[in-house]
Amino acid sequence: MPAPARTGGDTALPMRDVIRMASDGIHYLTVFDGHSERPIYLARQTRIATADQRIICYARDGGCTRPNCLQPGYHCEVHHSPDWTPHGATDADKLFFACGPDHKRVTDGHYHTSLTDTGRLAWTDGTTPPDINHAHHPEELLHGNTDPPHNDGD
Ligand SMILES: [Zn+2]
Repeated sequence: MPAPARTGGDTALPMRDVIRMASDGIHYLTVFDGHSERPIYLARQTRIATADQRIICYARDGGCTRPNCLQPGYHCEVHHSPDWTPHGATDADKLFFACGPDHKRVTDGHYHTSLTDTGRLAWTDGTTPPDINHAHHPEELLHGNTDPPHNDGD
């Protein structure tokens, strides 16, 4: 029997069922430049990320952005960086996936986050240099691309 496929919510299903379900699915194409009039930069207008902004997080992050966390995007909240309080913005390029426990840790100050030059979110607990999560980007490990370029401006 072939290995089962895993859905975004980590449910194991036979590959035949996944293909059947995907044939009726709504597929998204992520476009970062020249997007439609559907707003993805909402500034302080709202705190909660929209479905469009979550799709962008899926495309960029794949899952929780804390290094070595394996939680898929399906199980993640959306973290503002810079933090919503006091002046963060609900803008697509300032929102990142974080699972519930890690989101609480960063909100409580146990971790600090910063933006890298490549637009990824780097995490540190203050005892190690900021690092990004490669768990959802195994190609980075295969190609030896593991050093996060640091943006000193954030
Ligand atoms: Zn996490």
